[in-house]
Amino acid sequence: MHELDWKVKSMYNYEIIVEELLSWYDNNARELPWRSNPLPYYVWVSEIMLQQTRVEAVRGYFERFITELPDIKSLANAREEHLLKLWQGLGYYNRVRNLQEAAKTVVDKYGGQLPSEYEELVKLKGIGSYTAGAIASIAFGKQVPAVDGNVLRVMKRLAGSYDDILKASVKKDMEKQLLTIMPQRAGAFNQAIMDLGAMVCIPNGQPLCAKCPLSDYCVAHEKRIETQLPIKMKKKSRKIEKKTILVMEYAGKIAIRKRKNNGLLAGLWELPNISEWVEKKNIVELLKKETNDYQIKELGENKHIFTHKEWHMIGYYIKLSGILKMDDYIWVSKEEIADKYAIPTAFSYFIGKFVL
Ligand code: SF4
Repeated sequence: MHELDWKVKSMYNYEIIVEELLSWYDNNARELPWRSNPLPYYVWVSEIMLQQTRVEAVRGYFERFITELPDIKSLANAREEHLLKLWQGLGYYNRVRNLQEAAKTVVDKYGGQLPSEYEELVKLKGIGSYTAGAIASIAFGKQVPAVDGNVLRVMKRLAGSYDDILKASVKKDMEKQLLTIMPQRAGAFNQAIMDLGAMVCIPNGQPLCAKCPLSDYCVAHEKRIETQLPIKMKKKSRKIEKKTILVMEYAGKIAIRKRKNNGLLAGLWELPNISEWVEKKNIVELLKKETNDYQIKELGENKHIFTHKEWHMIGYYIKLSGILKMDDYIWVSKEEIADKYAIPTAFSYFIGKFVL
């Protein structure tokens, strides 16, 4: 069957497809903490956390975040360190910076209440078409779609389409198509596709078509091409950066410093590091210029993957018997690291050698 055939078939059947999806959702919706009370603020925070992070990982973060910052005003007024600490481990820290900037705008411009219209939401920092659609439909019942990678996967399989879902034009086109079939229960419909994509029409490997409420209408299933779809053209490979990480301990405290306020991991705290792999003998030579009272141990290798680059790291543990003067660095205990300083996950492996 050609994609055009599906469009004809779906035009004819779309009401049935929508009904099937909604009744499947009524019986199978995931229980998520932000769904029991879908306040606009809760939907917003959860959707931002869910970008690039799995639902299971987000649950705990979400509960803690809304307990400590229960409304948009408290988010707007939060101290940066507090905010980063609440986000520590979720990664992509620009998300939370944008969240706060948008919260400030909402306080200044809308009296602390999120606007309900898609067109207003999408103007806020960090809110793209997907998040605006999710908030407008789930929290305000507006009949707008929320199209992300999951939705595109389900819809392109349903259509048996070989479109490249990484193309912006393909996403835009899907938003236009879905806009024409949005039912009254728009929030439930959008969440139904999200849940179907997460639980049945799953991304890697064989989707669970036998459990799918749409299997009778699905071209990919009919043609047995489910695992070939959707198409994602290969992205450019990531840049590799080598680093040497130093865990420097003196009297139960380690040296950390704040990163610059722009660029990767902006404003977070980091361990001393060198932008290349340095052999132990060369580290020893550097140390000898400052002190003869130390022990040094190799900590092995670790890798951290960001969106556009990878850090390939080696590390050393250096135990000092006297404090070293190091510009910009402060010395902090395990407890202070746990409570106060947001250190990115990229350093976790090496931090663990001190904390454990
Ligand atoms: S039938 Fe299979 S491939 Fe088609 S939408 Fe359902 S789970 Fe996805």
